[in-house]
Amino acid sequence: MSSSLAGRSVIVTGGSKGIGKGIARVFGKAGAKVLIVSRTLAEAEAAAEEICRGGGTAKGFAADISDAGGTQMMAEAAIAAFGAIDVLCANAGIFPQAKIEDLSAEDWDHVMSTNLKGTFLSLKSCLPYLKKSDQPRVVITSSITGPVTGFPGWTHYGASKAAQLGFMRTACLEVAKYGITVNAVLPGNILTEGLIALGPDYEKSMAASIPLKKLGTVEDIGHAALFLASKEAGYITGQTIIVDGGQILPESLDALNA
Ligand code: NAP
Repeated sequence: MSSSLAGRSVIVTGGSKGIGKGIARVFGKAGAKVLIVSRTLAEAEAAAEEICRGGGTAKGFAADISDAGGTQMMAEAAIAAFGAIDVLCANAGIFPQAKIEDLSAEDWDHVMSTNLKGTFLSLKSCLPYLKKSDQPRVVITSSITGPVTGFPGWTHYGASKAAQLGFMRTACLEVAKYGITVNAVLPGNILTEGLIALGPDYEKSMAASIPLKKLGTVEDIGHAALFLASKEAGYITGQTIIVDGGQILPESLDALNA
């Protein structure tokens, strides 16, 4: 599976930390050339250096994906560095928590503009180059929160993650004629810096609610993304893969602990 990614040019937005860093690492190990994008150049470069130290090829780049100029520069940077764009992993996202009563219109717009508009802008800016690839792939990082489940404090986040799938289902139709596939990975609770920042109580209670009794790793998401980007997944488009240790399945505590 991994051989079909060797030498491919891959953009991972939000690749400096957390899930994106795991995705970048998995693609780097598969022999891809990875452009790691975040707003913080030093962190993007540090993540790229880690991949290079392990024998891979990667470069860091600073761009804000909620801005059309930022995603345009990102696409051009991939072309300048690697001469092509074969895979876009539209992963960057934010998940601030606020219940509706405390949620401002600005908070709402900020989450939508990063998670949803950022996905659209990233795809739009990469599209002219993806059209030239012979194995063009878009892999979106959505979430179980929104498309499948809910969590108090995350109305805006859940709406943005569900909307990414609405975007995907029409985007995949528009770009199918170029052979481009667009799919999404829906992570459950994955151990990242961002999730760790929510505190040990959150982590403990989440692990207890998961049938496999542990949180996922960033590589768990990376491997699902790698599959969707592979040659072998070329006939799959507009689909989702849930990677959550079975978290969405139990219909009661009895079912969970049986
Ligand atoms: P994280 O550890 O907080 O990392 C977020 C990444 O996105 C960082 O690299 C960050 O770098 C970048 N980023 C944020 N805003 C950006 C912007 N406007 N432009 C460019 N880069 C930006 O988050 P994570 O937990 O890995 O989450 C990554 C994705 O997975 C998100 O889409 C999230 O919704 C999804 N997800 C996560 C979990 C989980 O358990 N962690 C579960 C389900 C889904 P800068 O801040 O330097 O820009």
